[in-house]
Amino acid sequence: MGSHCESSVKIPPIKFTKLFINGNFVDSISGKTFDTIDPRTGEVITKVSLGDREDVDLAVKAARHAFDHGPWPRMSGFERGRMMMKLADLIEENVDEIAALDAVNGGKLFTLCKAIDIPVAARTLRYYAGAADKIHGTVLKMSKGLQGYTLREPIGVVGSIIPWNFPTTMFFMKAAPALAAGCTLVVKPAEQTPLSALYYAHLSKLAGIPDGVLNVVNGFGETAGAAISAHMDIDKVTFTGSTEVGRKIMAAAAASNLKPVSLELGGKSPLLIFDDADIDQAADIAFRGMFYNKGEICVASSRVYVQEGIYEKLVKKLVEKAKATVVGDPFDPQVNQGPQTDKKQFEKILSYIEHGKREGATLLTGGKHVGQKGYYIEPTIFTDVNEDMIITKEEIFGPVMSLMKFKTMEEAIKRANNTTYGLASGIITKNLNVANTVSRSIRAGVVWINCYTAFDVDCPYGGYKISGFGRDFGLEALNQYLQIKSVVTPIHDSPW
Ligand code: ADP
Repeated sequence: MGSHCESSVKIPPIKFTKLFINGNFVDSISGKTFDTIDPRTGEVITKVSLGDREDVDLAVKAARHAFDHGPWPRMSGFERGRMMMKLADLIEENVDEIAALDAVNGGKLFTLCKAIDIPVAARTLRYYAGAADKIHGTVLKMSKGLQGYTLREPIGVVGSIIPWNFPTTMFFMKAAPALAAGCTLVVKPAEQTPLSALYYAHLSKLAGIPDGVLNVVNGFGETAGAAISAHMDIDKVTFTGSTEVGRKIMAAAAASNLKPVSLELGGKSPLLIFDDADIDQAADIAFRGMFYNKGEICVASSRVYVQEGIYEKLVKKLVEKAKATVVGDPFDPQVNQGPQTDKKQFEKILSYIEHGKREGATLLTGGKHVGQKGYYIEPTIFTDVNEDMIITKEEIFGPVMSLMKFKTMEEAIKRANNTTYGLASGIITKNLNVANTVSRSIRAGVVWINCYTAFDVDCPYGGYKISGFGRDFGLEALNQYLQIKSVVTPIHDSPW
């Protein structure tokens, strides 16, 4: 494991730090701010307005008015799509500045933000922009004497509560289908990573999206987030984050106006590697599946099951890869892994590692923090683990892999399903029969065969079991922001 700390990229001045309500950047009602932190150093980047319940109220009022009386849900889907396309263009024009915000605020690799996260945001906007004028109901023939049709109407004001690991992807994964449907939004970015969301608010105004349609309220979960989930005037909440918080959001939604929620929650995803796999390819897939974005990815292949015939060889390759990983400044193009996003998370990961050692797992590599400041952790691999250990049961959300050996396909399926989570999974094999059987047997929302983290905006994505319900991406996500209304009339003297 090397470490590296040089960077030639200049961090741009931070332009937007207030709340964005009804088309304007405003201070919070209390006038309070909070520090937003650079995880490379633990130092303050800037102060950001601190939104609370009353700021959420103002934002909801604006979104409600824009929905009930404004042009957005009433204009043609084509017109909405045009503004969304314009927003996608503006995002691409500002890619360097936005990538720097996610890198300095989230510890994410600058080059990957530039090459992946931000282009994917633009692609997501364009995908749903293209769908905005293709929202159709169906005609129902029904029984003799009745005819009907369905209208698909925007669900209304959407509350979007998002996490800190993919600030840009998450923002548009929720906002793009909601906007295409004709909804208006109040977005609460994670308190750790508000900066790019505020930049997107600014760009939405330049793109011509009317005031009140897209509001951003920075703030903490227990205050601003809780106010969104309990709000009587919000018609739907979409959330990505931990299972623990997902339960709270669902309870608050149920206790208030029974708004529907979609929840994309934690995971402890299994990757099954069979004896016939190409070892180099398997090691690449498994390594990236786990350590991409410093392990802060809900689909991370955190439980890797390897068939006994190739186990030793694969372990060796994975350890080599971990040792060759350069941990350091995310602006440095030679660096492979940046700092964890915040101190709380950094400490939690290190405590899981200690837990693993105490439980009797063998630490093959890593296990320590890197450097004297900032939240850097070595890529860490444990073996001699089983499904009863905390490190194999709970989501760590950091660069920690559990490696296990299996003999038969039946055993692997059983152990892969031995979890309360069901977000993602992977299989590496050349045997089509094995791939087909395993993919139908695993209870998870995604099965990647001979690949991992292969996301596409056209492919619906979400969980089984305590990984939540509802789907992001794909046309399934658009449906979550639409209601179906059935319109029925009697029909007389129909010839059939
Ligand atoms: P993590 O534990 O990984 O930080 P969380 O699930 O706590 O992830 O956070 C995801 C998002 O949920 C953040 O925007 C956070 O502010 C928000 N959040 C946290 N607690 C609550 C809550 N009680 N109600 C609503 N939102 C919350």
